[in-house]
Amino acid sequence: MITATTIEEARKTIKKWKAEGLTVGLVPTMGALHDGHASLVTAAVSDCDRVVTSVFVNPTQFGEGEDLESYPRDFERDCKILEEKGCHMVFHPSVQEMYPDGYGTYVNLESEMTKQLCGRSRPGHFRGVCTVVSKLFNITTPDRAYFGQKDAQQLAVIRRMVKDMDFDIEIVGCPTVREKDGLAKSSRNSYLNDEERQAAAVLYRSIEKAKELAAAGASGTSEASAADPHSIAAADLLKTMTDVVSSEPMARIDYIEAVDGHTLMPKEYLAPGDLVAMAVYIGDTRLIDNFTI
Ligand code: AMP
Repeated sequence: MITATTIEEARKTIKKWKAEGLTVGLVPTMGALHDGHASLVTAAVSDCDRVVTSVFVNPTQFGEGEDLESYPRDFERDCKILEEKGCHMVFHPSVQEMYPDGYGTYVNLESEMTKQLCGRSRPGHFRGVCTVVSKLFNITTPDRAYFGQKDAQQLAVIRRMVKDMDFDIEIVGCPTVREKDGLAKSSRNSYLNDEERQAAAVLYRSIEKAKELAAAGASGTSEASAADPHSIAAADLLKTMTDVVSSEPMARIDYIEAVDGHTLMPKEYLAPGDLVAMAVYIGDTRLIDNFTI
């Protein structure tokens, strides 16, 4: 596996690959890799001739008071995992390489979708994400780029940005990889102490309950489902999830919402493709999860 720390180095190799007619897949990450990231690399390796994984803790997507400094970093371990998974290049630039002095251009998706869900409590987050992903797209010129469903809003935002900006890149969404008790794998899970780690399973328990309810159709008792017995009332699902999460004393709900899977605007009645997403604090650690109807 090649390690490239400069844009020039990465470009040189990728241009060579492209000249040979090879397809390139990109997996953008912030490192501290786990099985979720690895599943993206595996998907990319099976679809593409060459795979580039970026490992870059992107300062522009962190807000004030967030965990930029404490974000876990272990580049050596990341390289071992990537090599094992068959990745061809790791792109690991410095902050100065990506945002040199005088840097001033940002990609901002202005529609409402970046202001919903995580956008409400993390203003500017998706501006940072769209900016760094656009730069990574321009640096690595991939045929395909791989993103996890675990960050469902990010995936929807990237799909919109790619459409809006005419990036000639196929965006591939990959399923959420979970721990045995259902907790979505996340680099931030390392912040949890033993007690918090146990409590964190409540997110997935609430999702399982909601899925049961969704599978049973509009079996809820709210006014919403009484009004249309053939659709799934968001209010029923959200109440069920809120009750489950609230039963865990260490959990504090940031949001639990039901939205259109593409526009991310709230919906009262849910249909296949719609998204139920949540952010919950366990102690000081903010965890997100979701499922699609
Ligand atoms: P991050 O390093 O957290 O920025 O994540 C990099 C990529 O890995 C993003 O596309 C995430 O959605 C994806 N990812 C993170 N956790 C998981 C997971 N548990 N399952 C699948 N993909 C994930």
